[in-house]
Amino acid sequence: MNKPNRKQDALNYHAQGRPGKIQVVPTKPTNSQRDLTMAYSPGVAEPCLRIADNTEDVYKYTAKGNLVAVISNGTAVLGLGNIGPEASKPVMEGKGLLFKIYADIDVFDLELNAKNVDEFVTIVKALEPTFGGVNLEDISAPTCFEIETRLKAEMNIPVMHDDQHGTAIISGAALINACEIQGKKLDKIKMVVNGAGAAAISCSKMYLSLGVQKENLVMFDINGLLTPERTDLDDIRLEFATQRKDISSLADAMKGADVFIGLSAGNVVTADMLKSMAKNPIVFAMANPVPEIDYDTATAARKDIIMATGRSDYPNQVNNVLGFPYIFRGALDVRATAINEEMKIAAVNAIAALAKKPVPEEVNLAYNITNLKFGRDYIIPKPMDLRLISEVSSAVAKAAIESGVARKTITDWNAYGEELRN
Ligand code: NAP
Ligand code: MG
Repeated sequence: MNKPNRKQDALNYHAQGRPGKIQVVPTKPTNSQRDLTMAYSPGVAEPCLRIADNTEDVYKYTAKGNLVAVISNGTAVLGLGNIGPEASKPVMEGKGLLFKIYADIDVFDLELNAKNVDEFVTIVKALEPTFGGVNLEDISAPTCFEIETRLKAEMNIPVMHDDQHGTAIISGAALINACEIQGKKLDKIKMVVNGAGAAAISCSKMYLSLGVQKENLVMFDINGLLTPERTDLDDIRLEFATQRKDISSLADAMKGADVFIGLSAGNVVTADMLKSMAKNPIVFAMANPVPEIDYDTATAARKDIIMATGRSDYPNQVNNVLGFPYIFRGALDVRATAINEEMKIAAVNAIAALAKKPVPEEVNLAYNITNLKFGRDYIIPKPMDLRLISEVSSAVAKAAIESGVARKTITDWNAYGEELRN
């Protein structure tokens, strides 16, 4: 299929029939006049009064507990940049669709005309009665950090900015497994991070919690190496400034490095840079849609490489869909008041562990692959793996309970897992 057709196909897909990708569907019978008197006045007054007496009953009588808000202001949409809230709507509807098909979570997508932090935070906080959780999406850095920090502190339902933490969780799982295969220890690896935006900062924080040592990590933005001497860096980036004096360019930093993490822009890494890396290098070139170095060039340059990208047409796709549906599923199911570090680490470990289990035949079939097994070309599970929902959601729900943020408990984990799979 040539490119113009693909573009037109995508437009037709969105425009055909009822425009857009999602709709609201009643979940109760609506066939008779009696049904309608219960659904609306006068019957609806009963649940209203129960909830007025006990606010928690909102979870019993309304859709709140399974409803997530996907909220954006359109300031950093995919790789498309600051294209505005209306233009972000297809992405947010798409996220709603993924929540539904992977975890049966309902979504209202909300595109806000709100660029400054105070305005954004005020609006989202006021939405708390409606939703069981909030997925922040495609908000530019550094605003996204402050927005998320404030909302997490000021709201009593789970809030997660998926562009930051989703990528951190999936790539964290990939890193654990890649290190295991390459015979490297997380607390010993030398890591180069290219990019210092929302994704790079939060991924790097995750790698530190997984054991990477801060003095072994160097970070670059578009202006070069992050050092304490730079006067253009905010506090968030200064945290990743290096004391090392022996490097000035990306090419210098790559010499002898064990791991390259790309969350920057396409084609900024060369084959020569990869050739200068340590034995058994790990390269996650995650810029979308064009990675920092393309898969074929990278694997030709180094036979001993483990390579991951954000693309579905190569092995080891770092795809947030492995995380967010199940993280919210687990959080909602125990009515968690937050998505905390313990829950994120539980998701990392569950995703990493699943990749090591034998792959069911239906996953092979779904990808037209034979004999997929843990190794260089399979370090994280595939999105169509139906075991993800029970493994990841259960791990997240357990971590919520153990870390004290759950308002509901689960005792029969087998029954819970079974329920999720069906
Ligand atoms: P962002 O907040 O805009 O950050 C981009 C960062 O990259 C900025 O720090 C920028 O530097 C830096 N940068 C741009 N060009 C560079 C270059 N040539 N050399 C070094 N640094 C450069 O964006 P983001 O949300 O973090 O996303 C970054 C990239 O990762 C995008 O391509 C995105 O599609 C991709 N991504 C992929 C996944 C995935 O695979 N699952 C997930 C998330 C993000 P300045 O700060 O100096 O401007
Ligand atoms: Mg996004």
